[in-house]
Amino acid sequence: MMQQPRSVRSAAGAAGASSTAPVMRPVVSSVSAHRSPRAPVVAAASSVSTAPSTGISSGRRSTISTNDRSAAITQRRARRAGPSPLAAAAAAAGSAAADGEIFDAVIVGAGISGLVTGMALDRNHKGVRFLVTEARDRVGGNITSVQDEKYVWEEGPNSFQPNDSMLRAAVDAGVAPQLVFGDPKSPRFVLWGGRLRPTPSGPDILTFDLMSLIGKIRAGLGAIGVLNGSPPAGGEEESVERFIRRNLGAEVFERLIEPFCSGVYAGDPSKLSMKAAFERIWVLEQKGGSLVGGSIKLFRERQADPPPPRDADLPPKPAGQTVGSFAKGLRTLTDAMGAKMGPERLRLNWRLTKVERDPATGVYSLYYDEAAAPPASGGNGNGSGNGNGSGNGAQAAAPPSAVVKQHVVRARSVVSTAPAWALADLVRPSAPAAAGALASFDYPPVGAVTVAYPLSSVRDDRRVAAAAGGALGSLPGFGQLHPRTQGVVTLGTIYSSSLFPGRCPEGEVLLLNYIGGATNRGVATAGDDALVAQVDRDLRSMLIKPDAPPPRKVGVRVWPRAIPQFNVGHGDLLRRAREGLAAEAGWDERSFHLGGNYVSGVALGKCVEYGYRFADQVAEGLKEGRAGGAAAAAGGAREVAAAATR
Ligand SMILES: Cc1cc2nc3c(=O)[nH]c(=O)nc-3n(C[C@H](O)[C@H](O)[C@H](O)COP(=O)(O)OP(=O)(O)OC[C@H]3O[C@@H](n4cnc5c(N)ncnc54)[C@H](O)[C@@H]3O)c2cc1C
Repeated sequence: MMQQPRSVRSAAGAAGASSTAPVMRPVVSSVSAHRSPRAPVVAAASSVSTAPSTGISSGRRSTISTNDRSAAITQRRARRAGPSPLAAAAAAAGSAAADGEIFDAVIVGAGISGLVTGMALDRNHKGVRFLVTEARDRVGGNITSVQDEKYVWEEGPNSFQPNDSMLRAAVDAGVAPQLVFGDPKSPRFVLWGGRLRPTPSGPDILTFDLMSLIGKIRAGLGAIGVLNGSPPAGGEEESVERFIRRNLGAEVFERLIEPFCSGVYAGDPSKLSMKAAFERIWVLEQKGGSLVGGSIKLFRERQADPPPPRDADLPPKPAGQTVGSFAKGLRTLTDAMGAKMGPERLRLNWRLTKVERDPATGVYSLYYDEAAAPPASGGNGNGSGNGNGSGNGAQAAAPPSAVVKQHVVRARSVVSTAPAWALADLVRPSAPAAAGALASFDYPPVGAVTVAYPLSSVRDDRRVAAAAGGALGSLPGFGQLHPRTQGVVTLGTIYSSSLFPGRCPEGEVLLLNYIGGATNRGVATAGDDALVAQVDRDLRSMLIKPDAPPPRKVGVRVWPRAIPQFNVGHGDLLRRAREGLAAEAGWDERSFHLGGNYVSGVALGKCVEYGYRFADQVAEGLKEGRAGGAAAAAGGAREVAAAATR
């Protein structure tokens, strides 16, 4: 969501960190189409049902302006334009190609994790025959960039840390020329004591006023290993709050890390696990006894064993600490990856409803309901609607789609990038304990509320003073974070129009506000107008003039299950899920791969980095499986031969 305060990223940087549905109701009575995997595979179940599908539904979404309805009109126009060309092409390609064939791998989910895995299989493991399947009518998962005649805005993630994996993905998808980066010199702010204060940016480490002198001294001593106590004995997992208070003191926790946890996870730092959520910082203390000691040790290790040189075709690393996107928003990347997959390898509107594995052959059977592409896709202004859900919870905003076909796909391996709660429903019949573990990951709700104001509504002290003449300029900065103790409900605000060019007309500011999270779950049921009103109230207390005109509501999306929490016990849950799948269902790790953001980490860069590694893992698993299969076959043949000679 939000970007971390620079000081936090400095610590992570020192550690080498690059970034820190229920299942659809059975539709046809012929669920008998869900046959034993040994039975011949159906081309497609014949029944066509008009029963509504529930399942992965849209987050609640609304884009009707309070002041001006032009955005809504644009949206309606976009809706009339119909489903995306990609969805149409995928539908036109039909499903027959998939049915009856045994694929090497089926990737479930076409969010960024699934798409990168597919792209990396294609790029690095030619010959692996795979299919990417997605329940919605569009690719991208949480990535939901929207455009109308006036604005470009994000309703999910807003930017990424430009690590080499992200840049690699942009190059591989062919969209590197469209990359945009924020100005690394722009400040980030934290609200403290009624004022927005810049986070430390390096040179101002002694003078920045977000922390007191005593707080800074405490942090410095803790960082070098004085006053930081010892990690809990017996390997007990520490929460982020406990770890930071112990190592860096109360002020760093309350004024930097607590708002940062809201900004990245919409999480509760007293529950988030330091090890699981911020492993690269956690490991420093393990390595060197303190954060500074660990950084020095890591630096030396890197010098002794430097990482391989950067690929020559990567764009230069952006200078300083910044964030990136694409000129028309993040979906540029996922749309391009989807287009690269092509209709032959991508199935939209395909919801996985059941998985089975034949223990004799090791081949998986995946059962899908195909929904009709919604004719009036919840428009997003650039022709590829998201009406069938870009939210990932049970709240339906778009009219439910009818199931038109059922399919069974057979594959040697399965790569799940569906959210843990969605996978839990799928695996429950075969692996109830694994399902229990998967269902235990917490995904609190988050609202993304984008509003626009005239630039003149921004308080004078937040704007750039012009050099001469006294006229005021733009609103500088990346955005602001609000510690939970400061009496503001909104978690944080991204200055979208300051961060990236071309996001709104001259003379306006476009602000993306995140609200809700682990400590405020009521947003899941709050009305859109109530959310806009709350955000507006909060902004008027610090950024917007109290007597400014009402904001223009540009877009509101509520994600009922937004971001998986890497809470204390996260690693344990993952282990239980994997072990359960292997022990209860026989879906071992070499052929049933668990992925997606609850495995890789929630930052887009992490999903991408993992996606590339994931592809290698899948290819390796296939090789092992084939070798195992061949060995078993050879063993079987030997036994037969031996029996024949007896
Ligand atoms: C509001 C919000 C703000 C965020 N802000 C940022 C940010 O600024 N920067 C950042 O780096 N990260 C941010 N994140 C996190 C980041 O967006 C996610 O971690 C990332 O997009 C997850 O990608 P994914 O592919 O793993 O999962 P998803 O995007 O959830 O994709 C999973 C896909 O699986 C599909 N699926 C589910 N069930 C089935 C089924 N049965 N059959 C077929 N398909 C199925 C879903 O439809 C979905 O498309 C934010 C997240 C949210 C929600």
